[in-house]
Amino acid sequence: MKSCNTLAWSPRSRKNGAMVESSETDWVSRFADDVIAEAERRAPGKPIVCASGLSPSGPVHLGNLREVMTPHLVADEIRRRGLECVHLLSWDDYDRFRRVPAGIDPSWAEHVGKPLTSVPAPPGSSHANWAEHFKAPMIEALARLGIEVRGISQTEQYTSGAYREQILLAMRERAKIDAVLARYRTRAGEPAPADEHGYFPYKPYCEMCERDLTTVTAYDDETTELAYTCACGFGETVRLAEHDRGKLVWKVDWPMRWAYEGVVFEPSGVDHHSPGSAWVVGGEIVGEVFGGHQPIGPMYAFVGITGMAKMSSSKGDVPTAADALEIMEAPVLRWLYARRKPSQSFKVAFDQEIHRLYDEWDALGRKVSEERAQPAELAAYNRAVRTASGPLPATPHPVPYRTLASVADITTGHAGQTLRILRDLDGVESLDAARPRLDRAQHWAAVHLPPDQRTHIRETPDHELLDSLGPDEREALRLLAEGLDDWSLDGLTTLVYGVPKLQAGLAADAPATPELKAAQRAFFVLVYRLLVGRDTGPRLPTLLMAVGADRVRKLVGS
Ligand SMILES: [Zn+2]
Repeated sequence: MKSCNTLAWSPRSRKNGAMVESSETDWVSRFADDVIAEAERRAPGKPIVCASGLSPSGPVHLGNLREVMTPHLVADEIRRRGLECVHLLSWDDYDRFRRVPAGIDPSWAEHVGKPLTSVPAPPGSSHANWAEHFKAPMIEALARLGIEVRGISQTEQYTSGAYREQILLAMRERAKIDAVLARYRTRAGEPAPADEHGYFPYKPYCEMCERDLTTVTAYDDETTELAYTCACGFGETVRLAEHDRGKLVWKVDWPMRWAYEGVVFEPSGVDHHSPGSAWVVGGEIVGEVFGGHQPIGPMYAFVGITGMAKMSSSKGDVPTAADALEIMEAPVLRWLYARRKPSQSFKVAFDQEIHRLYDEWDALGRKVSEERAQPAELAAYNRAVRTASGPLPATPHPVPYRTLASVADITTGHAGQTLRILRDLDGVESLDAARPRLDRAQHWAAVHLPPDQRTHIRETPDHELLDSLGPDEREALRLLAEGLDDWSLDGLTTLVYGVPKLQAGLAADAPATPELKAAQRAFFVLVYRLLVGRDTGPRLPTLLMAVGADRVRKLVGS
């Protein structure tokens, strides 16, 4: 969620030979080198602190997973090197509820301006409040991803008085903070805020209505007496040294926490990377006011999503990490983030593109097992499949995802049929051996395969089509039916490509010519139409295997 800046700091700036101890195989190692060195300068001997921040104002978008995954990978690398590292996940649940999202009862508008933890959860939720409702699925997804964080509720921190000294300090130094902010206001050509009461970095939530429609009207540094009024008409004077119902404004809150937690690494999104942004302003305030340091903070690029158009709108069309984990295994999702530098954007595919992604993943797995992987590839693979705490769940018998998706499509998840096909296809001995990948592919086929691409195997032969066929087509179907004896994926593949060759008088290993390819395509279309009533479908050998030899013979009229 937060911001970013690589202007002042570059992961390569220290690459001058002797200082670099680790093998710099990938971006994660390079950051870990720098974070370890920086932590040693700032707080020798103490656990290293990496941080993330998320807002539970609504479903946590899958794109925001990068906010957590980037420091996770760095923290995990540090732990792999045997050093103690804490990954803080700060929940900005004391932020105000900004607006009622679509699909929520309009009566929630009365809660706008309250802390997210003071807003009732959406109707039907079992959670205590709005923030908890949206935190819970993310916390579960992070656990499934092997991401170990120490969650911090900003509501708990502020309302327990944990930041009291920092708040009083910020109020004492309000002129200095205002001056920093003014530098950027001036640069941006904005007029200074015309606040008759002056600048205050602290915003109380109203004692009466709980909302933040408050204005601080006076503050006394000696007594810490703070007077505020609220748009609801309420007003009071409190002693800030005892008051725990309010927060520092965002551009002060963030640097305060860098100093308070001793954060050495915290990435942030490209959206805050501008003059006057919280990252840039915070970088000045953290030192000038709080005596701390800005973290090493790479800017991370946008993560896009493809193929979510078909998702149910009841969930607000927001893809979450939990949604991604329904269709792909945790190591694959980790791999997407590990193999790209934070500055590189990429897309997470919910459409057919996931088949190609899994092909790539399996190809990498083979390269790794055959010790052919390049160092950077191997590093990304190792970060994907295990953490410093141990390996993530793996599928014992990983059948290609596209095959599993086809089988799921054809069987609509029927367990007995699925096992028969997978046994014939790939020697799978039990469905558990194919899990959890099988579950992910079944979910993909059930939810993300467009209805017009679903396969329905014909119950009865298409007699009208069969009767209309010419002698060559009938001969091709007869050769197909006769060749079904070699009931293996390889055998069926050779068969379906071989029938048109045989008809053309070519040898089985004849090279493909344009004419032969056209004949093969025409033959495939004919078989698809007879089996599933469409021109296309799952890969033909897989489909034949799924349909079964007897039913294939019946449907092709033999
Ligand atoms: Zn009020």
